[in-house]
Amino acid sequence: MKYTTIVSVGSLAAVALAKWDGVAPPAPTSFATQVIQAIDQPQVTQAPAAEDKENFLQGKVYANGYYSSEVMSLAIPSLANQALAPQASKVAKEPSFFWMDKMDKVPMIKEFVADAKKKGGDQVIPLVVYDLPDRDCSALASNGELSNANGGAAKYREYIAAIKKELQAAAPIRFVLVIEPDSLANLVTNMDKQKCAGAAANYRSLTVMALKELNLPNVRMYLDAGHGGWLGWDANLGKAAKLFADIYKQAGSPKSVRGLATNVANYNSWDASCASYTKGNEQCNEKRYIEKLGPELAKKGFPAHFIMDTSRNGVQPTKQIEWGNWCNVIGTGFGKRPTANTGNEMLDAFVWIKPGGECDGTSNTSAARYDGKCGSPDALKPAPEAGSWFQAYFEQLLTNAEAGAWPASGS
Ligand code: BGC
Repeated sequence: MKYTTIVSVGSLAAVALAKWDGVAPPAPTSFATQVIQAIDQPQVTQAPAAEDKENFLQGKVYANGYYSSEVMSLAIPSLANQALAPQASKVAKEPSFFWMDKMDKVPMIKEFVADAKKKGGDQVIPLVVYDLPDRDCSALASNGELSNANGGAAKYREYIAAIKKELQAAAPIRFVLVIEPDSLANLVTNMDKQKCAGAAANYRSLTVMALKELNLPNVRMYLDAGHGGWLGWDANLGKAAKLFADIYKQAGSPKSVRGLATNVANYNSWDASCASYTKGNEQCNEKRYIEKLGPELAKKGFPAHFIMDTSRNGVQPTKQIEWGNWCNVIGTGFGKRPTANTGNEMLDAFVWIKPGGECDGTSNTSAARYDGKCGSPDALKPAPEAGSWFQAYFEQLLTNAEAGAWPASGS
C-alpha cells in the first residue's frame, strides 16, 4: 500500500484500514465521533508531585486519532471476545506515540495540532522520529524507505526539515519526540554486521543534525537507549553512555534534549525481581538500568532524564525463550498506563511508545522483510507486516493487561 495524498486523519485511518491483513475491513465510524469518544475525555494522567517545566509529559498528553481509529474501527468490531470491548475503548483514549515511519506521515502533525487545538487545553503531542537511512540495520522487519544507496541522507534532511516546519508552525503547542528507536543501540552491539557498519556514519551525523534542528522551545526529545537487557550488560553500558553523551555534546548539548527513552517496543519490567533469563546482568529491569546509566551519562556531561515504554510489559516474568527476542512475543499484556507520576525523579513518565496492537514484523517466511525472530516459537503467528494492525496481538495485550491497569468504572 502506497501512502499518497493525506487529506485528513480520517483518510489516514482509511489507509490503516486498507492495511488490514486478510479480513474484510469493517466500515469506519466517523472520525469526529471517534475523536469525541477517544480524546474529549479527561486524561488519566495523575498530577505529579512537583511541577517540572522541562518535563512536558506532566502536561495533558494528546491521544491521537490514528491509533484510536485503529482500535475503534479495526479492533473493536472484530474482537473474538466482545467482552473485551469496554477495555479496548479505554485503550483508544490513552495517549500512545505516533510513529513517523515514512516521510509521508509528517503532514499528520498538522492534523493532530488542529485536533488538539479544537480540544483545547495545553495538550502535548507525542511522536516518534523514525526514518533513518538503512534503518533497523541488524534485523529485517522494520527496514525503511531510505538507504545510503538511494540518497537517503539528503532525503532524511528533508524529512527533518519538514518535521521542524510543522513543529515551529504549531507553537505554542508542545511536542515530545522519541528519536530513532534501535539506531544508536545497534552501533554499540552490532558493528560486526555489515549493514550496521555501513550505516553507522549516517546514524551518528544525522542524529546530531536532527537534535540540532529540532532544538525548539516547544519540543522535548528523548534519544532511544535500547533497554536493560540489551545495553545494560557491563560490556555494553559504558560504551552506550559514551556514544549517547558524544552525540548529545556534538549536537551542542541542546536544551530540548531532555534525555533517553528505554524499553521501546520491548517487554522488560520497571522493577520486578531478576528472573532466570536475566542472569548475569545486574541491570535486569529498567529501573536498575536507568539508575546505572544516568550517573554514567552525567559524568560524561549529559544530565539525562528518562521515559520508559510500558505498552507491552504487563506480564512478568515474560514468556520469551531468549531475553533478546523482540518480535510479537507471546503472552504479553498492556502494562502501566501512561502517567508522569512515576515516584522516581530520574523517570519523567511511563509512556506507551509502541502502539499496542501494531505488529513488530511479518511471520510470512517469503516476505522481503521476514526476520527469523518473527518465526521463533515464542512469536505470535500468523503476523502481518511491521506497523500493520495485528488483531490477535491486540486481544492478547487486552487479555493479559497488568492487574489494576483498568479501573472498574469511569475512565
Ligand atoms: C514498524 C513501524 C511502525 C512501528 C510502530 C515498527 O516496528 O517498523 O512501521 O510504525 O513499529 O508500530
